[in-house]
Amino acid sequence: MDYSYLAQLLFPDVTTTPEELEERYPARDLPEGAKVTRFAPSPTGYVHFGGIYQAVVDKMLASQSGGVFTLRIEDTDGQREVEGAAEALIRTLEKYGITYDEGVILNEDGTLGERGAYGPYKQSQRGDIYAVYAKKLVAEGKAYPCFTTEEELEAIQQADKKAEIKNTDWHTAAAEKRAAMLAGRQFTMEEVEAHLKAGDPFVIRILSDGDPDKKVKFTDQVKGLLEVPENDEDFVLLKSDGIPTYHFAHAVDDHLMRTTHVIRGEDWLPSLPKHIQLFRYLGFRMPKYLHTAQILKMDENGGKKKISKRDMGAKMDDYAQLGYAEDVVWEYLLTLLNSNFEEWRMQNPDVPVRDYPFSIKKMSVSGCLFDFDKLNDVSKNVISRMTAEQVYDQVLTWAESFDPDFASKLSADPAYAKSILAIGRGGNKPRKDITVWSGVKDYMGFFYDEYFRIEDSYPDNFEKKDIITALEKFLESYDPADDSTVWFNKIKEIAPAIGFAPEMKLYKKDPDSYRGHVGDVSMFLRIAVTGKMNSPDMYSVMQILGSERVTARIRTMIASL
Ligand code: GLU
Repeated sequence: MDYSYLAQLLFPDVTTTPEELEERYPARDLPEGAKVTRFAPSPTGYVHFGGIYQAVVDKMLASQSGGVFTLRIEDTDGQREVEGAAEALIRTLEKYGITYDEGVILNEDGTLGERGAYGPYKQSQRGDIYAVYAKKLVAEGKAYPCFTTEEELEAIQQADKKAEIKNTDWHTAAAEKRAAMLAGRQFTMEEVEAHLKAGDPFVIRILSDGDPDKKVKFTDQVKGLLEVPENDEDFVLLKSDGIPTYHFAHAVDDHLMRTTHVIRGEDWLPSLPKHIQLFRYLGFRMPKYLHTAQILKMDENGGKKKISKRDMGAKMDDYAQLGYAEDVVWEYLLTLLNSNFEEWRMQNPDVPVRDYPFSIKKMSVSGCLFDFDKLNDVSKNVISRMTAEQVYDQVLTWAESFDPDFASKLSADPAYAKSILAIGRGGNKPRKDITVWSGVKDYMGFFYDEYFRIEDSYPDNFEKKDIITALEKFLESYDPADDSTVWFNKIKEIAPAIGFAPEMKLYKKDPDSYRGHVGDVSMFLRIAVTGKMNSPDMYSVMQILGSERVTARIRTMIASL
């Protein structure tokens, strides 16, 4: 068969040559060892934690090697595309400071644009480019047209997907599918001409030369040496509307964008034989691959299962809504991604997270376990190391979106809010009261009269008259000019007046001789002034609230008892 004639028949309008594309997208002029990475999400809905997990690897590998990080939007599946998803994705990357050098960007006016010399970066705009390579493969007898109907194609795709999702069997081609496929290889030029004349739709399939009994060696940067069977399936390269499949677009785009490292989920591993074959057919050098481990969570029975979109923490919107700081997300991702991150953090408590020397070797080979308690722990630590200014700015930004009333309180008197947030900060053992921005109002709300209310009640084992006496005695001697030692000594002096121990150790030695201890006296004050059993340091709280409000709240409490 005259393949170049066939190619011309199928792609009469394609005049660009692969050589011209090589010139248009030349090898990048980068220092030795520089890595070119790309994040290639499909805009099919919400932004997944797993996507951000990969984007952080892309970002770190590129930026730490003096390379290039690209954002490519893989919008080849029109049916699954969700309007606004690409924009939301870019905003999420921005929010977490995952900046990139090239790719699809958000213009000032909210429309999508592009930056960089290796575009277009949206696959839907690269149709001309894919056609050039499809034509080349047909002309070389490595691909052929297939005029199966849309329904038949759909059935084959479904079978394909199922086999890939199951991730169990390399031999995805079932016997009958193979027979149908082989039949599709047989055609004459007259038949093709007749189909084209009739306007019949067709797809372009690869003409596979693979033998699944033969194995190919492949080194994945994370998984190590793998042996995969050769691909023997004539998989689709271009769909009937000219849109490429993932496989074809991956090979063409990553070649022309000069990607050196492909970081993608391990669910793509079963497709690797196809990619190995395709790169060989196209004469492209394969990039290096890092197939990242899946994110797992504990299930009810103590086993592990894949995190699904219904799970809390799967969507990046969850993090925004709860108010996890940008650095917290990074730190947590790095604890999942690199096994020596936590050790590094311990040794370098003050180094910015982005300066962590990311190591491919320390990446998890099997699954990464997602754990909310761990995330919250990381969060408390990170926030405890921030300055009051930093906390204020981030809480305010969060509140502006999610709690405008609180935001207006915070911004009405920034100095006041910052003095509250400064309590217990600095020093070797900073307090770890704050986990998420959405918890800050609960933590400091009592500093604002409109939010203050008595949330906790006095435990039943105390007598009202003792509480009243303690509160009254406090007011008698309270002087806001006292330093913290004098202030606390005065509280200690109240204790004996109501039969309480002035020192904890006295009480512990002989609990039967006292009705309570100095800590209980502090608790009486705490509930009256903050409304809660737990609060930041009471001396600082009273200093910031001011004597007028402290006195008023204690008086109100006495009257209510
Ligand atoms: N669009 C593909 C996905 O979202 C990208 C995979 C890749 O990074 O190559 O799964």
